[in-house]
Amino acid sequence: MSSETHEFKAEVAALLNLVTNSLYTNSEIFLRELISNAADALDKARYQALVDSELGGKELEPHILITANAQANTLTIEDTGIGMTREEAGQNLGTIAHSGTLAYLKQIQEAKAKGELSEAGEVNLIGQFGVGFYSAFMVAEEVSVHTRSGKPGSEPIIWRSKGDGRYAVEPGTREARGTSIEITLKGEAKEFLDRWRLQNLIKRYSNYVIHPIKLRIVDAEGEDKDPEPKQINAASAIWAKSPSELEDEDYQEFYKHVMGGFVLPGDEPFGKLHYSADAPIQFHALLFVPGRAPADLFQEDRKSLQLYARRVLVMENCDSLLPQYLRFIRGVVDSEDLPLNVSREMLQEHKSLSAIRRQLTRKALKLLAELASDEAETYAKLWKEFGPVIKEGLHTDSSQRKDLIELLRWRSVAKGEDLVSLKAYVEAMPEDQKSIWYIAGPDEAALRNSPHLEAVNAKGQDVLLMSDAVDEWVLQSLAEYEGKSFRSVTQGELEDAADEDDKDDDAKDEDSEDADEAKKDEREASPIDPLLNLGKVVFGERLRDVRASKRLVDSPSCLVDAAGGMSRNMERILRMAQP
Ligand code: ADP
Ligand code: MG
Repeated sequence: MSSETHEFKAEVAALLNLVTNSLYTNSEIFLRELISNAADALDKARYQALVDSELGGKELEPHILITANAQANTLTIEDTGIGMTREEAGQNLGTIAHSGTLAYLKQIQEAKAKGELSEAGEVNLIGQFGVGFYSAFMVAEEVSVHTRSGKPGSEPIIWRSKGDGRYAVEPGTREARGTSIEITLKGEAKEFLDRWRLQNLIKRYSNYVIHPIKLRIVDAEGEDKDPEPKQINAASAIWAKSPSELEDEDYQEFYKHVMGGFVLPGDEPFGKLHYSADAPIQFHALLFVPGRAPADLFQEDRKSLQLYARRVLVMENCDSLLPQYLRFIRGVVDSEDLPLNVSREMLQEHKSLSAIRRQLTRKALKLLAELASDEAETYAKLWKEFGPVIKEGLHTDSSQRKDLIELLRWRSVAKGEDLVSLKAYVEAMPEDQKSIWYIAGPDEAALRNSPHLEAVNAKGQDVLLMSDAVDEWVLQSLAEYEGKSFRSVTQGELEDAADEDDKDDDAKDEDSEDADEAKKDEREASPIDPLLNLGKVVFGERLRDVRASKRLVDSPSCLVDAAGGMSRNMERILRMAQP
């Protein structure tokens, strides 16, 4: 094998340029990224060893060793993981793994340039969207990757780059399976040779990596200060412990780990679920309802729950452990009862997973219900972040319908900024009110000012404000609540709210077009007729009818949707959905 020089793909060159020159205020996250890659490589090796009898290096102790060498001015992150073949190195280190990464980072950069992004905001965004391996170039003069794959017949190689658009691959000397990433530090990055700085970073970002991370310092004279390097991280499966053994801080730390290293003040989780089951399936779960919607919530390749089988990570993002409408929940599930030696596709289908999913769904909904009833303020924030996602469940999961309906919240005309549940709405209904009133449209402020509310308001009845685009779909699947139907104040006549003598007319009005005619006849002699006729001429085909009404108190006129027809808001949504 010879030495070759390659150009990076254009997107990588652009990414490198961003990363090294302008993106980060805090370059320290490179260490977290490289440790996380080392841990991934160890996980893959552990998994591979179980399914592939040919894999070399099975006897290796999984560990990550970080060596800071002041004499050589290098920082090395070494693992005994899966390693890379020559082809894999070219593929994995020469391209960007996630589509969209570059576009996303450019967005961050633009926001920063315009001063729209605080440092804290930047840190948070990056925390959700690691840039991985290339972050090493923030602190590196040069990066050399010494790696050897465990695949039979693989040769060791060295991959080198100065982050200047090119990289070289040459034969290497590494004997054991795994990877050692050697960084020659830039002048301004000498701090990453310091023991306390490194210890701190490892604890802060990588404490719950389940493999031991050890630290060795070699001083400026070349003396090895740690002939037997000590483990720095906790490296324990916190989810397998009993909640009574754990402090609040333990959970906070682990949450940080789950969320990729950063949690801003105010973004603490809304709730957590630490649960273990023995029968029918054994599993541990430690899940969180994040304190802020993850950036990838509506993306196809979003993050999800991590699935472990007997402490071995078998799937980084397992989205079959919870229904889609609970996809904002993050955390870890670990089970003794999962087979390791099957493909990931088959694992996703495994019957144990559906049993775990059933239990987790129940538990998660129970947690949400508890928050809703005991911590209204927290739940209001949660609902703002995740309400639209939870609402999807009404269409997709009929088995949890009852519980999901109780989780629904809206603002209402009478309750101002507070959220109202259907239960609370119905309990507060005056005796003569028959339907649950709502008004739907894209802009809540406009809804609050709508003339359509006048007649209902005058009666002391409340109206739910539905400004989320999915609300009317939700109503379609609800139809009614405790025997009360949902009615839009913009649609048909308002017999509940209108005066007694109008009632009969309006009821008929709903039944047939003939009733319309009868009513028009009845009003033939009204002095308002010339105005109505003028309206009919002016609006012509665009309106079905122009009539006198008692629905208004202060406003002179308003548009009404035909009873039984499609509401204008619904038409708007359908129009938007059309290609
Ligand atoms: P990600 O970790 O999100 O896939 P990275 O940029 O961090 O993206 O890493 C790119 C790829 O390089 C990884 O997916 C992996 O295939 C490979 N890689 C990086 N570091 C290692 C390592 N220490 N051992 C084996 N493979 C590695
Ligand atoms: Mg990575």
